Amino acid sequence: MVHIRIESLEEYAKINNIPIMQKDGIEFLTNYIKENNIKNILEIGSAIGYSAIKMASVKSDIKVTTIERDKERYDLAVKNINDFNLNNQITIINADALFIDLDETFDLIFIDAAKAQYIKFFEKFDKNLKVNGVIVSDNLSFHGLVLDDSKTHNRNTKQLVKKIRKYIEYLKENKSYKTTFYALGDGIAVSIKME
Ligand code: SAH
Ligand code: MG
Repeated sequence: MVHIRIESLEEYAKINNIPIMQKDGIEFLTNYIKENNIKNILEIGSAIGYSAIKMASVKSDIKVTTIERDKERYDLAVKNINDFNLNNQITIINADALFIDLDETFDLIFIDAAKAQYIKFFEKFDKNLKVNGVIVSDNLSFHGLVLDDSKTHNRNTKQLVKKIRKYIEYLKENKSYKTTFYALGDGIAVSIKME
């Protein structure tokens, strides 16, 4: 049996610039899962498996399906999930989330992938979310740039900021969901499905 500590994943992510959830963000998410008795979770963007491992560790009857398109990160996530003995709780898929179709329905969908595609993820996976289920979106602050992008002159970054602002407007105007925004981690939205 391999003994691995969650801190070693946090360290690995830091050294290798892998944007895993920040401490207060993941704490908020795992508390939400606990308090709302969430059992079935879909995650878009596994990276090295950190948040999937944290979510599955909340309780042994929680199931997480997580999707990662990058093969190298996927391989690392598979290894980490194994090392944490969470194979029975976590199913990881190596694919682009926009090109796969799932039949299952979930209590919670966590969107933490390519920021330019958030509306597409939201609309694609709406059918996989139960009524009263919730979509949690990460990185809506984008290091503070969504509020104030005067610090960057990079065109790609500015484009991304625009896309995130558009997603925030989309969430606010979406009447089928009730969205609350939290200034936690890198900015989190919790959208509850009303109908
Ligand atoms: N949720 C992770 C961090 C994810 S980082 C954690 O907190 O531990 C975002 C990841 O999303 C990256 O590894 C990237 O490769 C992946 N990604 C981006 N777009 C994707 C897509 N369309 N489908 C699947 N994975 C995607
Ligand atoms: Mg994130």
